[in-house]
Amino acid sequence: MTVADKPVPVPTPVTRPFWEGTKEGELRVQKCDACGKHIFYPRPGCPFCGAADPSWVVATGRARLESYVINHLPGPGFKDDVPYVIAIVTLEEGPRMMTNLVGVDPDPAKLTLDMPLEVVFEERGDQVLPKFRPVEVKA
Ligand SMILES: [Zn+2]
Repeated sequence: MTVADKPVPVPTPVTRPFWEGTKEGELRVQKCDACGKHIFYPRPGCPFCGAADPSWVVATGRARLESYVINHLPGPGFKDDVPYVIAIVTLEEGPRMMTNLVGVDPDPAKLTLDMPLEVVFEERGDQVLPKFRPVEVKA
């Protein structure tokens, strides 16, 4: 099983700045110039106030674990990865993002809701995907 067997995201005109950002090691989200709210997934207009053409900003990459499942039934290309964690994380800026958790065992005992996370980037094909790992809490 090779990485090429996994589906690779195909940027669209609306999502291209996001995928250009991940290649630069940046997690980019949109921010509405009218109401100031952060927006993810990428859209041509603000879902909160309807203003067109939200700007792009670089998110901190910090997030909290909102919810997750431990997946044991791989889709095509993911057979060697199971079990793995599919998560919803809430970015520090507000939007939620579906992602994978890495750097932690896929074990409910290790996965605490609201735990602090930070973005990491993984290459897949000709794209780079944002994933999240637990932040090491210094005693
Ligand atoms: Zn707005």
